[in-house]
Amino acid sequence: MRILSGIQPSGVLHIGNYFGMMRPAIALQSEGETFYFIADYHALTTLRDPSALRENSRRVALDFLACGLDPERCALFRQSDVPQTTELAWILSTVTPVSRLELAHSYKDKVARGMAANAGLFTYPILMAADILIYDSDAVPVGKDQKQHIEITRDIATRINEAYGESSPDGQIFKLPEPRINPQTETVPGVDGQKMSKSYGNNIDIFGDEKTMRKRVMGIVTDSAAVDAPKDPDKSTILQLYSLFASKEEIRDMRERFQKGGTGYGDFKKQLFEKLWEYFAPMRKRREEIVSDKSYIDKVLKRGAERANQVANQVMKRVRDAVGL
Ligand code: ATP
Ligand code: MG
Repeated sequence: MRILSGIQPSGVLHIGNYFGMMRPAIALQSEGETFYFIADYHALTTLRDPSALRENSRRVALDFLACGLDPERCALFRQSDVPQTTELAWILSTVTPVSRLELAHSYKDKVARGMAANAGLFTYPILMAADILIYDSDAVPVGKDQKQHIEITRDIATRINEAYGESSPDGQIFKLPEPRINPQTETVPGVDGQKMSKSYGNNIDIFGDEKTMRKRVMGIVTDSAAVDAPKDPDKSTILQLYSLFASKEEIRDMRERFQKGGTGYGDFKKQLFEKLWEYFAPMRKRREEIVSDKSYIDKVLKRGAERANQVANQVMKRVRDAVGL
């Protein structure tokens, strides 16, 4: 089985990225051949600062490795080190209905939040389809926000198979990938209760310093219930985030204290911060070790790119032959 996923260097990695994509991706290393990439072409749709893009890309690699990615078992690489992906995206765009892209939530959400409606942002799902299809991927671990993009990928792959599959022995140019979405962690809320995103300013970063992280947690938006008043555990961002880190008993205990009243949101936030800080402690340690080896990240990315190129070149040969280039 081949497993693929990507993450944009559009900012710094947050706990939504961790639970939605990175942790499942790391766990899948033992289930198949894994390809994980830093989506720098995608990040260009929202980030227009070359040094920040370079810096963020290295930082994504560092943070992902610190969280447990094993470069002996997986190929970690930059999307732009496989430029054939953009060639494939062009070919895929020729079978993609504009009406399908117009329905994409992610595009609509970003534009609604004030991001420029550039053509790159609009055609993002096509480039993402190319990212997935160019490695003959079987499974794609992602958060729920990407579910629709994977449906679009399957649709595009089917259209190519229908248009050109005759030339292939099994009638297929592309495999149809399956999303891997964990219902418990599919949408991690940000401090404002909306989907946590690098570009929405509502993030709690995995490797923020202690003071900043505490401040972010203390800034989680709540209703104005008084300390004594009972509080609704089902509507609370604090409890949703706490549930990612705490044991069943600890979650039950916090729920009961919500319902009973007598504890203020500030105390619950402090408890959440302690858990969160403790959870990432071993990863912070590992991160310091990696940082101290200056050439490590470059070596990992180079090796990952070589492996990714091997597969991408094979698939592109098949595609170019099939479509008549
Ligand atoms: P951007 O705001 O630039 O789109 P992002 O925070 O949404 O950044 P991406 O790089 O777009 O992060 O997504 C990387 C992976 O993390 C994807 O698989 C996505 O589904 C997952 N992911 C992102 N945010 C969340 C979240 N809040 N909860 C669960 N998964 C998430
Ligand atoms: Mg996103």
